[in-house]
Amino acid sequence: MIVQMLVKGVVFRFGDELPPDAKLLLEDFRLAVNNAIRVGLQAKVTSRNALTKLAYKDLRHAHPKIYAQHLASAFEVAGSVLKNHRRRLRAGSANRIPHIRRLFMKTENQAYKLDRVKGVADLPIRADCHVELSLVLSDYHRRYLDNDSYSLGSLTLFPDRVIIAFRRNAPRPYDPESVISLDINERSLDGVLAKNDDVVPVKAEFSEVAIIQQRHHDRRKRLQKKKAHDRRTSKGLCRREGSRDHHRVEYRLHRVANAVLSFAESRKSAVVLEDLKGIKPRWNKEMNRRLSLWPRRKLHQIIEYKAQWRGIPVIKVDPRYSSRTCPICGSIQNSRMGAEFKCECGWHLDRHINASLNLLHTAISKGMAGGLRFNPGAFQHDVVMTLYEPAMAARSEPNGTSCIGAVA
Ligand SMILES: [Zn+2]
Repeated sequence: MIVQMLVKGVVFRFGDELPPDAKLLLEDFRLAVNNAIRVGLQAKVTSRNALTKLAYKDLRHAHPKIYAQHLASAFEVAGSVLKNHRRRLRAGSANRIPHIRRLFMKTENQAYKLDRVKGVADLPIRADCHVELSLVLSDYHRRYLDNDSYSLGSLTLFPDRVIIAFRRNAPRPYDPESVISLDINERSLDGVLAKNDDVVPVKAEFSEVAIIQQRHHDRRKRLQKKKAHDRRTSKGLCRREGSRDHHRVEYRLHRVANAVLSFAESRKSAVVLEDLKGIKPRWNKEMNRRLSLWPRRKLHQIIEYKAQWRGIPVIKVDPRYSSRTCPICGSIQNSRMGAEFKCECGWHLDRHINASLNLLHTAISKGMAGGLRFNPGAFQHDVVMTLYEPAMAARSEPNGTSCIGAVA
């Protein structure tokens, strides 16, 4: 079995101002990246090695003082910028020559030291010059610093903060004693918790997400109309609105995912989700459609990612026909129905919960859920367990983390 390496980017603020030497380093790094990008564009190469061969001497000359490892890292950043540019060129959406505007620098774990007790990062600038950054620590940060099972990954420095990557092997998922199967739609996750012959409906409602998205969509249209004469202003305004709403949505999706996973953990459940890979947005419908698919994919991603960290097994199944199949007699209905699924055999159930029963059925019949069984006839219509509801988003501050994702 391949053990997954999980990476988590933890954001730290500084206790003091960023030292002037470090500011210079940020500027040097940006310059080096942009120079490397220019060389790469001229020579039409994107790999870090090719860039290094072509440009190392010149760059070394232009930036005589910069620490060699930082220069190597600048090549790496330039390489990924160039790769993205090439991808956009192929897709026909590249509209400018790439360069980095933002001040930042990235370095691998060989090039910096971190005192995990005191919370001091030691960053070399040049051969004879280091800066020490004392980081502001909270309980949240301590969890990562104090735990030996986390090793250190890259460090990314910005003028006002630093992101340190903590790495850990994924824990082995537990053997499930029950299954939660969830069908996702624009406003909620609906599904069932199944344990042997008990099948109980569960629900995690996040209708605020759809509301935020709709409001964002309307406001964006209004802004575009209002500032139609000034494209640049309109673009800037839209972008600002966009990122604010984006954060609001992501914050809620994280809360939903945490609630679902804590529930799953408390019952030692495996989580069954539909595999959204093949699902494409329907372009012929309104723009709304396009907007609404993103949060669903994102929520699935967040659940999967967090589940890996917590050792909760996730099973993804092909959702084909799941919304049109009768879990009792197996017949497939032709058309999409209203809010309720109805079958000739007399079975009827909320459309989304019905779909989740079918997902669960697929997972179990394919043996993906260990030896667990399940009996759709034992479904209890009268009780719904609420895993999450909008009131639970009542504002507590997000903790300033960001997901870097998992690497195999
Ligand atoms: Zn039926």
